Amino acid sequence: GMFEIVHMTFGFKVAERDIGEVWHPDVRYYEIFDELGEKVGAFYTDWYPRKEKRQGAWMNHFITGGSRSGGFAPHLGVICGNFTPPDGDHAALLTHREVETIFHEFGHLLHHCTSRVEIPSRAGINVAWDWVELPSQLMENWTWEREALYLFARHHKSGEALPESLYERMVAARRFMGGWSQMRQLALGIVDLELHEELAPQLRLGSARYSEEELDLAQGDIVMEFGREHFEPFVVGPHFAELHILPVFTHLFSGGYAAAYYSYLWSEVLEADIFTRFRQEGIFNRDTGRSYVDSILSRGDSDEPGALFKEFMGRDPDPTALLDRNLGSEPA
Ligand SMILES: [Zn+2]
Repeated sequence: GMFEIVHMTFGFKVAERDIGEVWHPDVRYYEIFDELGEKVGAFYTDWYPRKEKRQGAWMNHFITGGSRSGGFAPHLGVICGNFTPPDGDHAALLTHREVETIFHEFGHLLHHCTSRVEIPSRAGINVAWDWVELPSQLMENWTWEREALYLFARHHKSGEALPESLYERMVAARRFMGGWSQMRQLALGIVDLELHEELAPQLRLGSARYSEEELDLAQGDIVMEFGREHFEPFVVGPHFAELHILPVFTHLFSGGYAAAYYSYLWSEVLEADIFTRFRQEGIFNRDTGRSYVDSILSRGDSDEPGALFKEFMGRDPDPTALLDRNLGSEPA
């Protein structure tokens, strides 16, 4: 289903090839061809859990190809996960979340494998932190569209298509507590920036606000108080500000997201906005797909993200689409 969507919309054909030599029998190998039949890249998939394997799902690049004098060098990458494996005669039945994750990782892979940028360090997924999740999150949108699900979401025995009532419940469940989670992401993103912009310089300088003694004794308390104060505008009542506990905000200490947590929500603003053009022009519209590949997907870091966005959308980003997704349309 996913390969069919990518073929219809973006014009890339994906074909499996038996190459014999892989690191585990579960591993498969695929090649990607553009409309002219030229091979632009290849990738391995490694989807099932094993004892020695890392958790989660991820994409990696092995070879960064791209336009070279005298032709095009194909890319090579891999997408991995830990999904429900088939069990004997029973097919692997993936949850919707798992399907979404596969689309997500495939989005990263396409970003890498369709790059036409000549300089490898500027190609594919080597882009700004707050732009790198756009192609992956954009792909997830197709897993929420009726017409796209119809291509592959079928009963594994009867072949019956996804019932309409179930589809409607899925969409409704997606919005459940949408306001709450959006405010949470907003709070975490903003407080992260404020920690770095406001509190860090204050603590470093000893500042007018705290004496050196105060800093020595109570740095932890100062940070906690700062968190409480700054989370408060985003929560429904003062008690809830206590729930946002900075000491376990590990993204900032060990996740590499210090001063960059906002990029989660920002990527969503961008992809939800970009997907509105697909919605308007058709989610499988080949011209829209081509325009997306030419303006964004194949361009890597060859231009400012803002400029690439504008080239595709003809304007600056607008958060309305994300608000609509999380909170529902404004009442008429
Ligand atoms: Zn990702």
